[in-house]
Amino acid sequence: MRKKLIAGNWKMNLTYKDSEKLAKEIISKIEKKDLNKTDVLLCPTFVSLGIVNKAIKDTGISLGAQNISYENNGALTGEISAEILKSVGCEYVIIGHSERRSYFHESNAVINKKIRKAIEFDLKPVFCVGESLVEREDEIYEGIIEKQLTEGLAGIESGKIAEVIIAYEPVWAIGTGLNATPEQAAQIHSFIRKIIQKLYNEKAANEILILYGGSVNENNSESILSAKGIDGALIGGASLKPDDFSKIVRTAAQIK
Ligand code: PEP
Repeated sequence: MRKKLIAGNWKMNLTYKDSEKLAKEIISKIEKKDLNKTDVLLCPTFVSLGIVNKAIKDTGISLGAQNISYENNGALTGEISAEILKSVGCEYVIIGHSERRSYFHESNAVINKKIRKAIEFDLKPVFCVGESLVEREDEIYEGIIEKQLTEGLAGIESGKIAEVIIAYEPVWAIGTGLNATPEQAAQIHSFIRKIIQKLYNEKAANEILILYGGSVNENNSESILSAKGIDGALIGGASLKPDDFSKIVRTAAQIK
């Protein structure tokens, strides 16, 4: 049985103090019983990882980063290593977000190196895949997602695949207010499971957690999270609003 995961990607928002405030507000609005049913993950900026880690101590909420270096350490100005992320309490790291793919030119090969480095250090990668609007309109989205998965997961052994969380995020739905219909999302989640079965095996396909991301909010979360094969959500905008984010967590916890 896959436990749902609701992850908040705070992106490049909030100062150190505001991150602490938001974390505390979210904690105060999430009920303990909901955390038994749903895992919750907060991904602030690098600068605020420490203060958010302190705020979530003993709550059962987890901490994640938004990026990672594929190198161990050394003369790489501005980069952050897996070891540093672990030292500040991270359990997860978002890798391959479409904003990093498009603005920072991260290729599938670079993303693969980052996923491998995260796994080497026992950090769970939240590996983002998804097609652009043109790719959807041209109906080549399945091929794009298969390539992202195949190249992103290259060299990751079957014993480690259960540590990877996949986030299906259609680029056209991120921060746009548009979102895939529950049917569209369920179709791609099922397609992703088929690719995982092809690359690994049936057990891996059944066990892997696949989140949906793209303009999820408190109003559409119930229909999206109830769709077949959707194990949770990666949330940008609504994760900055404590009332909305905690409502989504509650919704996820109530879905059978
Ligand atoms: C995201 O950043 O991963 C995301 C899905 O953003 P939003 O919820 O704002 O569309």
